Amino acid sequence: MPESALKNAENTQPQQEKTNLLGFSVSRLGDFFEQLGEKRFRATQVVKWIHQMGECDFEQMTNLSKSLREKLKQTAEVRLPEVVSCQDSSDGTRKWLIRVEGGSCIEMVYIPERDRGTLCVSSQIGCALDCSFCATGKQGFNRDLSAAEIIGQLWIAADSFDQFDTKAPRRVTNVVMMGMGEPLMNFDNVVDAMSLMLEDNAYGLSKRRVTLSTAGVVPALDKLADVTDVSLAISLHAPNDELRNELVPINRKYSLQQFIDSAKNYIDKMPDNRRKATVEYTLMDQVNDRSVHARELAVLLKDLPCKINLIPFNPFPGTEYRRVTNTALDRFRDILQGEGYTVTVRTTRGDDIAAACGQLAGEVNDRTKRQQRYKSKLASAEETPVKILD
Ligand code: SAH
Repeated sequence: MPESALKNAENTQPQQEKTNLLGFSVSRLGDFFEQLGEKRFRATQVVKWIHQMGECDFEQMTNLSKSLREKLKQTAEVRLPEVVSCQDSSDGTRKWLIRVEGGSCIEMVYIPERDRGTLCVSSQIGCALDCSFCATGKQGFNRDLSAAEIIGQLWIAADSFDQFDTKAPRRVTNVVMMGMGEPLMNFDNVVDAMSLMLEDNAYGLSKRRVTLSTAGVVPALDKLADVTDVSLAISLHAPNDELRNELVPINRKYSLQQFIDSAKNYIDKMPDNRRKATVEYTLMDQVNDRSVHARELAVLLKDLPCKINLIPFNPFPGTEYRRVTNTALDRFRDILQGEGYTVTVRTTRGDDIAAACGQLAGEVNDRTKRQQRYKSKLASAEETPVKILD
């Protein structure tokens, strides 16, 4: 808890900035209540109010005493990001534009399917990784999202489907950290937000239904299993270093083999030994879609428990890449299946509202000093601080 908020608690000076409790995990909220001189179990009550019942007004939290509600009002708040717009695609996909502090906007997408509703959540404003085929990368990097801004996306989606009040048929059952940004470059906030996704007293999603997707920030991935056991997706897009260096520049720092070994370690540490990583492979015409690439990929992945998700490239303004042809896609899939892999092809959803994979651009303010931010972000990835969840 910031010092200013503590001072608030003691001196009841409401003009000081209030602590936003939206992104606080149960354990962090427990610390907050302890510092207020309250019992830790209040944390569970408040998390339930915010994330199970969608209640952000302390006054309505009727199982807290009046004096505690008053104390909370003086020191804290539940502040949500602002929804700027919400568009529905003809296929049921919904896309939100969400403004966060500082004025930039991020995008979030909901994809309904027969047996699930998947929310694609952003972890950063823009992205520092600069993958050559990704619209977000072209926007540059602005900043990390706070845990509140990450979990706030799920809160907003749940609220829009009346999930807090009713057994609404349309609801978020799955979350994928595949929106804007690289989740492992924003380690602590992503881990905190994911802990609320899994928390029984909050959204209660199963660890199989929350997926972190990474382009290969190896030192952070090496530490991930210490703090969470969500599902893992790895964005490969190329079967060798030469090609991957071009498509996913972070590969120049952490090679394909290092990435795959790290992913294997993560999967091996999972208590349930049937779990597999998802390998994401975006297919671009004449770039990485040849038979030789498929065969090379089959060899590369032979020791990794995985399934492969092929993603036809989704074009965006200004890109020179083209979508894979159907013939090349079928051939690529057949070769991998012939080698015994489970292969799925991601269907393009929300194309008419630019909500498909890699099309999320948002509005990133302040693109100056991009190189500088990029470098310092990469440097800090090596020293990713790790917190242990309780
Ligand atoms: N930084 C993380 C998560 C965000 S990207 C990561 O790289 O995994 C999530 C997925 O979007 C990536 O796997 C990539 O396959 C996909 N993607 C990015 N741009 C795309 C595009 N233009 N067409 C299709 N998929 C794209």
